[in-house]
Amino acid sequence: MSAPILAYTPIEEIEGIRNELRAGFASGKLTPIAYRKYQLLQLVYMLKDNMERFEAALLSDLNRPVLESRMLDIVPTVQEALAQLAGVEKWTRDEKPAFSVNFFAMRPRVRKEPKGTVLIISPFNYPVWLTLGPLAGAIAAGNAALLKPSESTPATSALMTELIGKYLDKDLVRVVNGAVAETTKVLDLQWDHILYTGSGRVARVVATAAAKHLTPVTLELGGKSPVIIDPACDLKMAARRILWGKVVNAGQTCVAPDYILVPRAFQDTFCAALKASYEEFFPDKAAASASYSRIVTPQAAARIAGMLEGTKGTIVFGGEVDTEKRFIAPTLVRDVEGDDSLMSDEIFGPLLPVVPVEDIDAAIKFINARDHPLAIYVFSQDAAVKAKVFNQTQSGGVIANETVIHPGVDGVPFGGIGPSGYGHHTGKYTFDMFTHLRTTLDSPGWIDMILKFRFPPYTAATEKQ
Ligand code: NAD
Repeated sequence: MSAPILAYTPIEEIEGIRNELRAGFASGKLTPIAYRKYQLLQLVYMLKDNMERFEAALLSDLNRPVLESRMLDIVPTVQEALAQLAGVEKWTRDEKPAFSVNFFAMRPRVRKEPKGTVLIISPFNYPVWLTLGPLAGAIAAGNAALLKPSESTPATSALMTELIGKYLDKDLVRVVNGAVAETTKVLDLQWDHILYTGSGRVARVVATAAAKHLTPVTLELGGKSPVIIDPACDLKMAARRILWGKVVNAGQTCVAPDYILVPRAFQDTFCAALKASYEEFFPDKAAASASYSRIVTPQAAARIAGMLEGTKGTIVFGGEVDTEKRFIAPTLVRDVEGDDSLMSDEIFGPLLPVVPVEDIDAAIKFINARDHPLAIYVFSQDAAVKAKVFNQTQSGGVIANETVIHPGVDGVPFGGIGPSGYGHHTGKYTFDMFTHLRTTLDSPGWIDMILKFRFPPYTAATEKQ
C-alpha cells in the first residue's frame, strides 16, 4: 500500500493563518467559559465519533495494533479533554492570597488569563495524544492555538486537519502541515507560548527561535530512560512490564525503558526471564504478530539498525531487521558496556541493552554520570532500595515496579528536567502552562490614612512610621 499523501500548507499562507488566529483570540470568543466548554465537548465528540478512523490512520502510519492506539493515544486524549472540561470552571476562578494585615484592603487577587495565541508542535509517536491533549488545555485556558503535527504520520495528521476544520472553531484552532521549511516559517513568527514535544536536537532550534521573540517555551523531550533491577524484585512481573514498555509502539515511546542496569551476578537470571516473557508475548515471533507496530519510516528503521550493527554486546533474542518493511524485532542485547553504540543516543526503538554493574550503588552512579533522563524505573520489593533510587537520582519522573504508563496518570505532572525538557503538562498542569497569572489590586482611598507616610517630602517624623 502506498503511503498516504499529506498536503503541506503553502508557506506563504502561514503568516495569514497566524494573524487570523490572533484576530480570533482578540475577538474574545473564548472568554466565556461556556464557549471553552463547548469547544472541549466538540473535541470529545470529534474523537469519539471518529474512533475507528483514528485507529485506521494509526494502523496505516505505524501499523499500530488497535488496542495500543486506543489505550495509549485516543482514549487518553478523550480523558484529557474531559479533565479540562471538569476542571475549567474551578481553575479559571480568581485566587485570593493568604490574609495579610498590610494588604488585604487592596483586594489582591490572581486572575487566570489566557496567554493569547499559542503554538503546539508535536512528534509522530503518539500523534493524537501529544497534539490534541495539549490543545484541550490550551482551549480550557482560553487560548487560540496553531497545531503543527508530525509529517511522519501523514494519515493521522491529515485526519486531524480534516476533523479540526469540521468540529472546532476555525477562528481559534488551525493546523499547519509540513516539514522543516514549514515549521521554520511558523517559528519565525511571534507566539505567546510554544509547546514543543520531540527530540532535543530540534528543541534547540525551537528554543533559539522563541528566544528571538522572548516567547515562553515548554519542551517535552526524550533521552535514555534507564531501568534498575534489584535481584529482590518480582522477576516475572518485572520482565513482563519492562518488555511491554519496550515493545509497545515498537519502542517509539519517549518514556520507554531505554536500557537496563542489572547486578552482574543476576544478569543470566534476568535475561532468561525476559526471554520467557518474549516467548509469551510473541509465540510466533514479532514479524508474524498482529500485536506489534512498525518503525515510523525506513530511515528511522535504518538508524536503529545501525545502532544494533555497532554493538559489541551479545544478542539474547530478536535481531531480525527489515528496514524497507520498517520492521525491527524486539531485541535483547546483554553484556553491553557504557561506550557501546546502543548507549550513544536515545534508542527510540525496540532494542533493549542490558548493562551489567556491580550493585545498586554502581547503577545509581552510572545514571548520575549521564544526562538527567525523562524517567527512571526501579524494580524491587525492597523499600530501602526504592527509596535510595528515588532519593539519590534526578529525572523527569521516577517509578517503582511499572513502566511507561505514568504520563497518563491523572493529577500528576509529566515533564523532564535538564536535557529531557522543561515545564509540565496534562490536566491542570497544561491549563497552568497556557495561563498567565495576572495580579490585580483595587486600593481604596482610605488606605492613605495609614500609608500617607510613603509620600515625599520624607521627614524625621514620617521615617519613624
Ligand atoms: P522530531 O523532533 O524529529 O519532530 C518533532 C516535530 O518537530 C515534528 O512536528 C517535526 O516536523 C518538527 N521538526 C523536525 N525538524 C525540525 C526542524 N529542523 N525545525 C523545526 N521543526 C522541526 O521528533 P520525532 O522524531 O517526531 O519524535 C521523537 C522524539 O520525541 C524522541 O526524542 C522522543 O523521546 C521525543 N518525545 C518526547 C515526548 C515527551 O512528552 N517528553 C513524547 C513523545 C516523544
